[in-house]
Amino acid sequence: MNEFDAIADYLVPLAGPEGKGLLDDAAHFTPPPGFNLVITKDCLVEGVHFPTGEYGSKIAQRLLRTNLSDLAAKAAKPIGYLLSIAWPKSVPISELQAFSKGLAIDQKKFGLTLWGGDTVTTDGPLVVSATLIGLIPTGKSILRSGAKEGDDVWVTGSIGQGYLGLQLATKNMKFKNFSETYKKKLINHYYCPNPRLCMRTILREFATASADISDGLLADTEHIATASSIRITLEQAQIPFDDEALAAFDQNPDLSNHLLTGGDDYEIVFTAPKASREAILVASKDLQCPLIRIGHCHDGRGLQLLDKYGKQIHISQKGYKHF
Ligand code: ADP
Ligand code: MG
Repeated sequence: MNEFDAIADYLVPLAGPEGKGLLDDAAHFTPPPGFNLVITKDCLVEGVHFPTGEYGSKIAQRLLRTNLSDLAAKAAKPIGYLLSIAWPKSVPISELQAFSKGLAIDQKKFGLTLWGGDTVTTDGPLVVSATLIGLIPTGKSILRSGAKEGDDVWVTGSIGQGYLGLQLATKNMKFKNFSETYKKKLINHYYCPNPRLCMRTILREFATASADISDGLLADTEHIATASSIRITLEQAQIPFDDEALAAFDQNPDLSNHLLTGGDDYEIVFTAPKASREAILVASKDLQCPLIRIGHCHDGRGLQLLDKYGKQIHISQKGYKHF
């Protein structure tokens, strides 16, 4: 099987009408009137973002879901994607079938189709990259730069599942006291994070700024502070951790810092006016994910984290950095 057969067998069935059956040079798309495009790209490298030797459906799902999380943070509705694959020469291209099954599952679940891409071979590790396209009504764009003094800071879900899932998936740490159910949930979160697309309505209605948590809660919140030229104070006591993670803090004093800075949570941190507090809580009742207020925006620059006594906690590295 060569790369053209692999595209025909495994990728063409995933193509939407915009992709012209993956037989043309490029995709064609007419945006509906009154909508803007929101476009995002993520790249996964074997041995860096997923364990060496794994080429299956889980990797495809992780690729789509990390990108979907960016669209979720921008309150966009996903519609299509372009896919680049640098396939290792040492691995039969027929293994693309398993990968394509993951794409099929998630494009159906999240309502997008394949519009095109590129496939090359490499002597190096598997590298896959997707460019996702979403729609947002014109004038409703939510940037990182819109937070105002006095705004509240909110976060979805719980923090640290990304860090814990990575430790378990790469077998770095064993967390003996975690239940088997919780460990399974964490590993599943690592491969199959749940993009918070359910936040679309709330974000469009109330958010002044938002970001998804891929680098770490502290780093991504600081990105909002920097882009908005304000200072954000987060209160550690308000930050949502899972009960089983909290129970492990005693034996592992550094754990809370790791959870705050580890990244890969794919939750959403956003700011909204204080006046919207009640309305947000009412609107969040119908959501599948919890939503909690963890801090506020004020005059100044940067980010600070306070303990339950109001004392500042110093953390030298606020998130994951590649360089
Ligand atoms: P070109 O050489 O003109 O860039 P290719 O021969 O690489 O085009 O690709 C032919 C068609 O197959 C194009 O429509 C392209 O979008 C599609 N394609 C190639 N690789 C992928 C991929 N990994 N995912 C989706 N579509 C792909
Ligand atoms: Mg061409």
